Amino acid sequence: MLRVGLTGGIGSGKSTVAACLADLGAVVFDADAVAREVVEPGMPALAEIRTRFGDSVFGADGALDRPALGRVVFGDPGALADLEGITHPAIWRLTAERMTSVSDDAVLVHDMPLIVEKAMGDQYHLVVVVGADEGVRLDRLVRERGMDRADAQVRIDAQAGDAARRAAADVWLDNDGTREQLEAEVRRLWAERLEPFNENLRHGIRAARPEHLTLSEPQEEWPAEAARLGARIRRALGERAVSVEHIGSTSVPGLVAKDVIDLQVGVVSLADADAPEFVEAMARQGFPRVEGNVSDHGKDGSVWAKRFHGSADPGRVTHVHVREVGSPGHDWSLRFRDWLRSDAAARGEYAALKLGLLAQGLTTSDYTAAKEPWFDSVHARVLAHDGHSPG
Ligand code: ADP
Repeated sequence: MLRVGLTGGIGSGKSTVAACLADLGAVVFDADAVAREVVEPGMPALAEIRTRFGDSVFGADGALDRPALGRVVFGDPGALADLEGITHPAIWRLTAERMTSVSDDAVLVHDMPLIVEKAMGDQYHLVVVVGADEGVRLDRLVRERGMDRADAQVRIDAQAGDAARRAAADVWLDNDGTREQLEAEVRRLWAERLEPFNENLRHGIRAARPEHLTLSEPQEEWPAEAARLGARIRRALGERAVSVEHIGSTSVPGLVAKDVIDLQVGVVSLADADAPEFVEAMARQGFPRVEGNVSDHGKDGSVWAKRFHGSADPGRVTHVHVREVGSPGHDWSLRFRDWLRSDAAARGEYAALKLGLLAQGLTTSDYTAAKEPWFDSVHARVLAHDGHSPG
């Protein structure tokens, strides 16, 4: 089951996208609806709220008086934490219960306003964010929903800003245009990414990768992408992963690179990486193991053992190298990255090598092999470099 987190600021068009995805065949869970449901009459959370907050937050009919409760918790972090301590576990229980009834073949969309605010992105395979210019959102909330403009502004200001949303977004759906444009984007997302991702996930296979080698200008969002993917792997593996790091060219700011996120998972022993629980946890999170890719050509002349996982997501090529912490291959990846990060001349040399090989029109595997002599030649320089760089 592909789990998609759908979020966006108020008035961005999140509900419109959720409805469109439901039409296309997704199973949509509306987090707001569940949040309302757990405080309906007769639900256990309601009794707990009465015990903590008293009768004044209830109407004469015994139902929760939401505005009254809102006034009590607004601006009182302790009271808000108490309320969330009651409602959140109830929401999660009900959500989990509902999830057990969803077919394993389905694409599950969790329509959830607070994914960014609550840093929940690692619970999904993909986070889709709907974004629109603040002025456009205000206009829509006033015009379409009849909200008071100042009120709408207060709500917008209380939510995460666009920078945080962009850093959390695997997919950004721009909704500054017409509804038809938005729906066309959603249909494309469904056909080109969500459906094939789900299909690959079900079969435990990696997505097809581009056949031709292209180098991309450095992308500012690569580190944030790596952080999102790394957090999901960490969550999937728990203590089986000693470390998860962004390595390779996309981890070096300013370097031209193939548009591939390389991650290194450090394990105590490769036997851990061979355990069925490890392999299954990675596959369920969308990183199926690729058999046969079990070593690198060591830069010290020896063979460096590893395990390798690809990605089921057709929208993001990711290579996950699993290596024993402290092994030469593990340490080389980090040292090579740190050397490039700290040495502009080294970056220039590496970029020139890549561009030169690209000009020869090599295939991806020939290109990888053709870089080896240069790696061998810089081995001593990398080891001599003892600088540390952040991240
Ligand atoms: P959210 O769920 O993010 O708060 P909605 O999907 O409810 O936002 O959208 C806010 C309002 O704007 C709704 O009334 C919706 O019908 C309308 N809307 C959404 N997208 C567009 C668009 N592209 N053009 C015009 N109106 C839109």
